[in-house]
Amino acid sequence: MKSYLFAPGPTPVPENVLLRMAAPIIHHREKVFSDLFGEVREGLKYLFQTKQEVLILTASGTGAMEGAVSNLFSKGDQVLVVRAGKFGQRWGELAEAFGLSPVYADFPWGEPADPEKIKQLLDENPAVKGVLIQASETSTGVMHPIREIAEITAPRQDVVLVVDGITAVGVFEMPMDAWGIDVVVTGSQKALMLPPGLAFISLSEKAWRMAEQSDIPRYYFDLKKHLDSAQKNQTPYTPAISLIIGLHEVLSMLMEEGLENVFTRHHRLAEATREAVKAMGLQLFAKASPSDALTAVQMPEGIDGIELKKTFLERYDMVVAGGQNQIKGKIIRIAHLGYFDPMDMFQVIGALEMSLHKLGYPVELGSGLKVLSEKLA
Ligand SMILES: *Cc1c(COP(=O)(O)O)cnc(C)c1O
Repeated sequence: MKSYLFAPGPTPVPENVLLRMAAPIIHHREKVFSDLFGEVREGLKYLFQTKQEVLILTASGTGAMEGAVSNLFSKGDQVLVVRAGKFGQRWGELAEAFGLSPVYADFPWGEPADPEKIKQLLDENPAVKGVLIQASETSTGVMHPIREIAEITAPRQDVVLVVDGITAVGVFEMPMDAWGIDVVVTGSQKALMLPPGLAFISLSEKAWRMAEQSDIPRYYFDLKKHLDSAQKNQTPYTPAISLIIGLHEVLSMLMEEGLENVFTRHHRLAEATREAVKAMGLQLFAKASPSDALTAVQMPEGIDGIELKKTFLERYDMVVAGGQNQIKGKIIRIAHLGYFDPMDMFQVIGALEMSLHKLGYPVELGSGLKVLSEKLA
């Protein structure tokens, strides 16, 4: 039997990338590595659509989120945390762990943040120094309106916009410099088609200025140290060498395809998946603004998402994600970010039809697959 990975991270790794990473280890203080690192730095700027340095940390994505909090702010600082899912909650937990005073902008799970509400909260709380948000809230499958929010934060000299782009960078358009985003964070195991283990963070000039005032203790994630090293094609500590070699390959693939085409590919798969799911009589969990990274499917009456996820695994050796926290059992999440193509979506939609059928849900077999072929033909 084959195994299939359809969770929104970790995502499948292309064969050519796996082969590159299987090569014997090289030394990170030798020229062969620093030459490669120089090319990786350029590729990351292209991916983030920024002139700023994109720093590479050895951590999962959360490490870069922590780096953002610990480098930008000081104890007691007010930050506005957008919470509309599990990853929004994580920003809040990080802010609290480092002694900040978060003001919460809560939105129902499944809905995008309302920029008007954010503007109002910023006006009411003039001491707020940062807005912490996701671009794509992976726990609900919703995309937040980053462009509109950046229009609110960009003119405020003392407010930075910190975006967790972990399932947005390399999925849909979010040009860091052009939109005036101050911090963008991502990780290796989502759209970047790599195993987990690398986190990325880039800071605008405004964010670097704010970082100079920060009084929070830090060491491994001291971003200024990472910046100084990166500018010499180095890292302050031993990097995850094999992953960076894999990243070099991934960036070449993305540059060859072209970012515009990468975004179009994701949008096409996402649209087809959403339409196929609806054709089966199911509903999306996202009430508006679904993310092109993944599709969160609402469970119909009488179907338990945990059972459905188990059926996928037992019958097809296929991993999809369930719901977390208060929506556990109420949704399943299907990924289409990174190394996925149209034929992959036939596998997961086929398995969804057959699994629902197995659980006694009255799905017309072929109804989702038919729409998928119409959309992707
Ligand atoms: C996956 C994910 C994270 C967490 O990343 P880890 O790599 O598990 O630390 C954070 N935010 C979003 C939006 C994610 O999708």
